[in-house]
Amino acid sequence: MSEPLVIIGNGMAAARLADELSSRALGRYAVAIIGEEPRLAYNRVLLSSVLAGEVASSDIELKPTKWWLDRGITLRYGCRATTIDPAAHTVTLADGQSLSFSKLVLATGSQPIKPALPGMTLPGVITFREINDIWAMWHRAGTDDRVVVIGGGLLGLEAAYGLAKAGARVTVLHLMDRLMERQLDARAAAMLQRAVEAKGIEIILNADTAEISGAGRVEGVRLKDGRTITADAVVVAIGIRPSVDLARSAGIAVNRGIVVDDTLQTSARGIYAIGECVEHRNIVYGLVEPAYEQARALAAHLTGGAAPYGGSVLATNLKVSGVNVFSAGDILGAENTEEIVLSDPGAGIYKKLVLAGDRLVGAVLFGDTADGAWYLDLIRSAQPVDQLHDDLAFGRPCTKAIAA
Ligand SMILES: Cc1cc2nc3c(=O)[nH]c(=O)nc-3n(C[C@H](O)[C@H](O)[C@H](O)COP(=O)(O)OP(=O)(O)OC[C@H]3O[C@@H](n4cnc5c(N)ncnc54)[C@H](O)[C@@H]3O)c2cc1C
Repeated sequence: MSEPLVIIGNGMAAARLADELSSRALGRYAVAIIGEEPRLAYNRVLLSSVLAGEVASSDIELKPTKWWLDRGITLRYGCRATTIDPAAHTVTLADGQSLSFSKLVLATGSQPIKPALPGMTLPGVITFREINDIWAMWHRAGTDDRVVVIGGGLLGLEAAYGLAKAGARVTVLHLMDRLMERQLDARAAAMLQRAVEAKGIEIILNADTAEISGAGRVEGVRLKDGRTITADAVVVAIGIRPSVDLARSAGIAVNRGIVVDDTLQTSARGIYAIGECVEHRNIVYGLVEPAYEQARALAAHLTGGAAPYGGSVLATNLKVSGVNVFSAGDILGAENTEEIVLSDPGAGIYKKLVLAGDRLVGAVLFGDTADGAWYLDLIRSAQPVDQLHDDLAFGRPCTKAIAA
């Protein structure tokens, strides 16, 4: 008989785990997925494209209904899991029902952070995480609307791009002295800033928000230096926080995220966690590729394979405001590292590779990201690159040979 396996969360990690489990051992588990969002799992990464009007929301479903039915997966969507009893092996849902499990997987993702500033609860303050947030943004992005986006990281820039495309006048406020400071060095960030500004989006750096002002609705954002930016709506995109409350209240060990070991097991036997809600070896990943790697490793573990999860190399491959950007590993270069830089501002191309001894440890690519996957392989495999050193910035050798 199939063992009951319950997954809490209907996001990208959960969908990948269901896929991996059914292709490895269909029928071994009776899988039930509990999801708070009232829809089939979708590709959250493509929300930016939906916001920009480039794809329809119906086009971003990860799997069609038939796929789930064919695999016998029970979907309980639009329903929040409210408590877990690790000893009794049960999960209680918001509608009062209770589900028994043999194995439980937490894939609860993250929530947007809202700073505790005056005005944060005013109507017109929006975050960017779910499909519903897009409806809220579109509602406020008419041609005469002024929207302030707080946060010049990936999400903030994606929101700004989509809102500008929808016709709003957009200002991005970023606390730091350059955009996407965790993924980009100063030169790549400056190129990105120019590209974003060319789309008609205003960027204010070193902008520390004091409050969102307004009487009954958003009217502006006041900075700590005294400046005020008029706004009809404010999108807050300053970061995410792993969704850990359910685990914590069940007595499962939580630090920044739900703490897991190399088998993705939490401190409670038979209860696992994957995706953005997880903290593994002190690292919380905010990207989809580590979530997929964790789903793969957990499926292997749950079906008798031995593929412990050893962590992921942080890599970001994005299209920000229509510009390709890739960033992986150590992009700033610790002491005793070497940098190889290839820059062609006229063509909008910048590449920086960081080497530690004969290994590639980091890469930033702006404009031309075609070799990103290859650089990521070199970083992950830690293979010596001294033979390639002089040509490394020009990309994968065989690609050039084929092109020639
Ligand atoms: C606009 C946007 C753009 C992005 N772009 C990129 C990108 O370019 N590259 C990249 O790598 N990453 C990107 N990301 C991040 C990426 O989407 C996440 O890394 C990925 O979705 C994580 O998957 P997850 O399954 O862990 O979490 P999620 O996809 O967030 O899924 C978690 C699900 O669990 C549900 N849930 C939570 N608690 C409960 C509960 N108690 N009961 C039932 N259900 C619950 C939530 O409602 C949610 O549906 C982007 C994110 C956003 C929002």
